[in-house]
Amino acid sequence: MLKNPYYVYGSRDITVPLHLNFGQFILDRMWMHKDRIAQTNGATGETMTYGEIVQQSMRFAISLSQLGVRKGERIAILSENRQEFWTAVIGPACVGAIITTISTNYAKGELKHAMNISKPKYVIISPKMHERHVRTLKSFGFIEKTIIFGDAGSKSGLYSFDELLAGDSSEIEVEKFTAVNVNGQNDVLFMIYSSGTTGLPKGVLLTHYNVIAACCLPVTFDPKLPTLSVGPWYHVMGLVGSITGMASGRIGVYLDKFDVELYLKTIERYKVVQLTVVPPILVAVCKSTSTLDLGSVRLIYSGAAPLHKDTAKAAFEKFPNLRGVFQGYGSSETTLGITRYTYTQLDIAKPGSVGLAAPGCVLKIVDIKTRQPLGPNQTGEICAKGALLMKGYIGRARSEDFDDEDFYRTGDVGYYDEDGHFYICDRIKELIKYKGYQVPPAELEAVLLQHEAVKDAGVVGIEDRAAGEVPLAFVVRQPGKEVTEQDLKDFVARTLSNPKHLRGGVRFVTEIPKNPSGKILRQELRKLAKSRKSKL
Ligand code: AMP
Repeated sequence: MLKNPYYVYGSRDITVPLHLNFGQFILDRMWMHKDRIAQTNGATGETMTYGEIVQQSMRFAISLSQLGVRKGERIAILSENRQEFWTAVIGPACVGAIITTISTNYAKGELKHAMNISKPKYVIISPKMHERHVRTLKSFGFIEKTIIFGDAGSKSGLYSFDELLAGDSSEIEVEKFTAVNVNGQNDVLFMIYSSGTTGLPKGVLLTHYNVIAACCLPVTFDPKLPTLSVGPWYHVMGLVGSITGMASGRIGVYLDKFDVELYLKTIERYKVVQLTVVPPILVAVCKSTSTLDLGSVRLIYSGAAPLHKDTAKAAFEKFPNLRGVFQGYGSSETTLGITRYTYTQLDIAKPGSVGLAAPGCVLKIVDIKTRQPLGPNQTGEICAKGALLMKGYIGRARSEDFDDEDFYRTGDVGYYDEDGHFYICDRIKELIKYKGYQVPPAELEAVLLQHEAVKDAGVVGIEDRAAGEVPLAFVVRQPGKEVTEQDLKDFVARTLSNPKHLRGGVRFVTEIPKNPSGKILRQELRKLAKSRKSKL
C-alpha cells in the first residue's frame, strides 16, 4: 500500500522486546542501572536506587502470588507520590495483574464511580488515603484484600506492605526471577480514568505493549541529569512519564504536591537540570519572587494542557541558563505524547509547537465537518493510530472513539506545518482542564441537577491565565425555587474534588441551548461565556 500523502508518519525505527511483558521489561531495564538513584523525595531526602526497586518489586510479586493474586485480576493503587509507589506498580505487573491508579483528589462520589468501573479485588493504599476513604472503601463488596503502605499496626483486616516485603534479606537473583507470562498486545497493564471526548470518566485500557512501546521511544531527557517532576503518579503523565524515565535509568526527583517555595528549593538543593511541568506550575514559578539559585535548570518539558507563549518567555527570565521550553501532546488514551521532541531533536524544535509525530504513530488532521484528511497548515481534528493508542475503554465499543481507519478521534484541534511540526489550537471535546486536571462537564452537570432548585444545567470552561481553564455553570432555576450562585458553588464544592469547583462562577439563564436530540450545544454556551451578559 502507498502512504497517504496527508498523513504524518512517525519513524518506524523502534524495537520492542519479543516477550512484550512489561514486568519483565522494566525489571531488566532497571537492573542495568541498579546502583543509580532512581527516585529522591525532594521534601524528605529519602532515596531509592534502581536495584532496591527491582529487589522490592520481585519480593512483592512473590508475596502477591502467595496471597492469591492471579493474572488478569485487578489491583487498585490509591496513594500520593511516595517511595513505595513503584514497587506497588511493578510487583503486580510481574504477576500479570491489571493495575488501576486512582486519583488522590477524588471525593467520595468520584471514588465510587471509578471503583465501580474497575471493581478491583485488591487495593494498595497509603495511610493518608486510607484514613480519608476507609468508610467508602468498606462499602465495596468486591474488595477482598487491602494492603497498606508501611506497617498495618492495629488496623484490623489490612495487610502490611512492609511485612509483605520482609523475609529473607539476601538479594534475589534477577536472572532467576521470571514475570508471569502475558500476551502483551492484548493483556491490559493499566486501567486509568479519563472522560475522553464526552461524558463521565471511563476506564482507559493500556496494554503491556502500549507501555513498553512508550519506554522504547527515543528519550526526551538526558537520563544522567536530575529531573524534577511533581505531577501525580496516578495520572498518565506522571505514571507512564516516570516509567519511561525509569526505563532509561533517569535520576528522578519528585514531590508529592506542588508548593512553589519547596519546588524552587528542591531545584536548588538537587541541582535539577530538567523539569517536567504542567503549564500552571510554570506560571506559578515565573511569578514567584524567590531569589534561590535556579541556574542548574536547562530544559523544561510541558504537557497536559496548552502552554501560553508568554509563560514560555517568562521562564527564560526565571532560569538564567535555560536552553528551551518544549512541549509534548498526548492523553490518557494515547499512553504518552503522540507528538514530542526527543532529546536529539531539540535543536530543530519550533516555538509553540508540540513536536513531531512520535515513532510508531500515524497522525492525521481531518476536517471537522467532512472528516476528510487535510494537508499542512490546515486546521482540523487530530486523529491518531499506532503503538501508543489504547486498546479502548472498558465496556465500550471501539467504534465509538475510533474512525473507520482505526484512528482515535482525540477531540483536539490542531494542524501540522510543512515540516511535520504539530500545533494545538483548540478542543472540540467537552473536557475542561483545570491546572492539567480533567474536569468533565457532564460530571458537574449531573451534580448540579441533583440540587432541588436546578431545572437544567450546562457547564463549559473559560480561560484563566493561572489555571488554564476554570468551569463556569449555566443554570436554569426550577420555577418557584430560589438559589444563589454561592449556594450552587458550595453544593458542588461539597460533592466534587477541588479541581471541579465552580471557579468560573454560575450564570442563571432561562434555557440551556440543545440540539433536537437533547445534546447540549456547548459551542453556544462557550460563545455566551465570552459575552459579558448571558442573553438566554
Ligand atoms: P489527559 O488525558 O488528562 O492527559 O488529557 C489529555 C488532553 O489534555 C488532551 O486531549 C488535550 O486536550 C490536552 N493536552 C495535552 N497536552 C497538551 C498540549 N501540549 N497542549 C494543549 N493541550 C494539551
